[in-house]
Amino acid sequence: MTGWTKAKFESFIKSTLRKGTTRWPPKYEVLNAAKRGKQINQESGRLAEHYQCAECGKLFPAKLVVVDHIAAVVPLTGFVSWDDVISRMFCSADGLQVLCKPCHAIKTKAENAQRREYKKSK
Ligand SMILES: [Zn+2]
Repeated sequence: MTGWTKAKFESFIKSTLRKGTTRWPPKYEVLNAAKRGKQINQESGRLAEHYQCAECGKLFPAKLVVVDHIAAVVPLTGFVSWDDVISRMFCSADGLQVLCKPCHAIKTKAENAQRREYKKSK
């Protein structure tokens, strides 16, 4: 086909699906629900909408938050099927939460550690 490895092809499909979530309505439902009004953005000094992080409860401008999948898109116990990835990726609003980037980084790190533990235990 393209000369890509299976792993490269899988990560290409995953990132392409992830890009599709920018047009997924529940994502905006969750973002809108986390809005806490305009405040001065500490970095730019300008008035900007702020969002509340579901983990630490602090307020951040849009650039510093992400919409996180509460349950990882690829299960911590490993890939099951593309149908599974798609239904986890495009879940309803109750499967999503707004996190600040530092809280998201901590969650991702913990999930990756669990993935490694699981692989080792097999
Ligand atoms: Zn946070």
